[in-house]
Amino acid sequence: MAKKQFKAESRRLLELMINSIYTNKDIFLRELISNASDALDKRYYISLTDPDQKVAKKDLTITITRLPDADTMIIEDTGIGMTAEELEKNLGTIARSGSREFREQLEKGTDKIDIIGQFGVGFYSAFMVARQVTVESRSIHEEVGHVWTSTGEDGYTIAECEKKTPGTRITLLLKADTEDEKYSEYLTEYKVRDLVKKYSDYVRYPVNMEVTKSVPDPTEEGKYIETQEMETLNSMIPLWKKQKSKITPEEYNEFYKTKFNDWEDPAKVLHYNVEGNLSYTALLFIPGRTPYNFYYSDFEPGIQLYSKGVFILDKAKDLIPEHYRFVTGLVDSDDLNLNISREMLQQDRQVRLLARSIDKKIHSALEDMLKDEREAYEKFFDNFGLNLKYGIYKDYGVHKDELQDLILFRSTNEGKYTTLKEYVERMKEEQKDIYYACGSSIEEIEKMPVMEKLHAKDYEVLYFLDERDEFVTGIMNAYDGHAFRSVNKGDLDLDSEDEKKAREEKAEANKFLLEDMGKALEGKVREVRISSRLVSDPVCIVSDENGPSIELEKYLANDPMNRNAIKATKILEINADHPIFAALQKKHEADPDSIREDAEILYDQALLIQGLPIEDPAEYARKITALLLKASE
Ligand code: ADP
Repeated sequence: MAKKQFKAESRRLLELMINSIYTNKDIFLRELISNASDALDKRYYISLTDPDQKVAKKDLTITITRLPDADTMIIEDTGIGMTAEELEKNLGTIARSGSREFREQLEKGTDKIDIIGQFGVGFYSAFMVARQVTVESRSIHEEVGHVWTSTGEDGYTIAECEKKTPGTRITLLLKADTEDEKYSEYLTEYKVRDLVKKYSDYVRYPVNMEVTKSVPDPTEEGKYIETQEMETLNSMIPLWKKQKSKITPEEYNEFYKTKFNDWEDPAKVLHYNVEGNLSYTALLFIPGRTPYNFYYSDFEPGIQLYSKGVFILDKAKDLIPEHYRFVTGLVDSDDLNLNISREMLQQDRQVRLLARSIDKKIHSALEDMLKDEREAYEKFFDNFGLNLKYGIYKDYGVHKDELQDLILFRSTNEGKYTTLKEYVERMKEEQKDIYYACGSSIEEIEKMPVMEKLHAKDYEVLYFLDERDEFVTGIMNAYDGHAFRSVNKGDLDLDSEDEKKAREEKAEANKFLLEDMGKALEGKVREVRISSRLVSDPVCIVSDENGPSIELEKYLANDPMNRNAIKATKILEINADHPIFAALQKKHEADPDSIREDAEILYDQALLIQGLPIEDPAEYARKITALLLKASE
């Protein structure tokens, strides 16, 4: 029979499994039982909707058989089974899209050991303990079975086989014991019992195993004999149906990791019951890390839906609002129609009620976390804050009121994260607006000429380090009655009345100088004016209050679709207290035309300071060189 090779990605993961030095090989059993349980879920669901596929609940089981004399363990389920194509597709490649990421993490090496154990490694984990794996499976849609077999590295074979009933039987030929690894332990009753209890207790189908019982010998008083009996090893109570106080954090974490394919503990667990018009139990998780594809279209949001403990749907996305799409988990309700389909979800009144209720719960859980677990919340925000911000400006801001207190910005308050509420609480008495500055790093923003003045006034400034931040506040317009104001836009209004007056007088006295500079820069800036925002720098460029900002221009310049489309209306501001201003006045008085080149140089400098490209760097360099020559004459 021709051997087929594993797909490249799977082969590498497989190698890591086979050669794993990982001590917690135990998890293979959890993975195989979890797969069996999923297969039973699928079969049971079909049996409820398709009269030809009727099956009694009691016949849905998982059976573990130990054959110590043959170094063999068998895990069998009466689930949905697999066709030859499915065996090929599911076991020839690792279906899970995160497998590449997982492997990369593994190969990075450092916390290798932890990762293997925490990642739901799936079917392949069988190769940590087995030198040969045989999967006999019959799909509920077929009359014949197929057998897939592999010793790991050298590929696999698939052939037809006889199988009387639907389901899957996985036979593991265990590796030989070594000094350090006792694989034969997996064939002992206590070990299997222990593992099932520890990792698979909540599986909702019986995990049965033949166990040895001592019973009194009826023929001889005081003597005991051993008999073999089938026993169900797990309690079969799903975790979410258990009493909250009886569940340990480890149990939640293990459940999350196995069921939702993560290798890190969740950041937050929400487990609650709602009684009323619509009763339900929810067990929701906020992941502890951003799924690698979270911001890509192949990320599938949604939670699992159960009705009366019966699995109905995976990834029901209508149950979770888009701004909380990072939430995973499940809900189980007694009040839902069993026949509900994915398409009907959106229309169903009960489902809409359910979704609204879940939305509120997640919201208040996040509020609590922000209040009581600041550090954890900030970490959460690093992972998913972008999605909350997106939620604010999406759909023209319909959700902005709910979300505005959940977002964080870094600010001049020691670079720490702040909420808008906290910012407003710290505002100076006379301060009306919320100031922000856009830039790609705190260092870049702190270098902006205008920051000096704001520091001098002791006004806090929000660092907008993300291009979307300005869209977010643009949609919000104001927070608690305070407008958002870019430090690089329009008139900042930082001066006292006296200072304002003095500036106006100065502007009037230097009217011609400013006008001539403006003429020299025609087409580049709308006007040249005396600045109220500069302290030690000579010039800066700001944009018009009502137009697009310079940051937006910068952002859009990187987008090929928008190149040249949107430009900020620029204004060159000059510091009237800077010696350069006095020099310009003098030069202008002698010969108005002589300041043309100075204006151009100052304009280019302002652009450079703000990280904007200058139009003609060669020309700029030529002018500076000429100046240097003149200075050394
Ligand atoms: P995952 O379970 O995360 O999808 P696995 O590698 O464990 O990844 O399994 C791959 C796929 O093989 C499963 O998604 C499922 O379709 C199929 N599969 C595995 N075990 C069984 C089983 N016992 N019965 C039916 N299908 C199974």
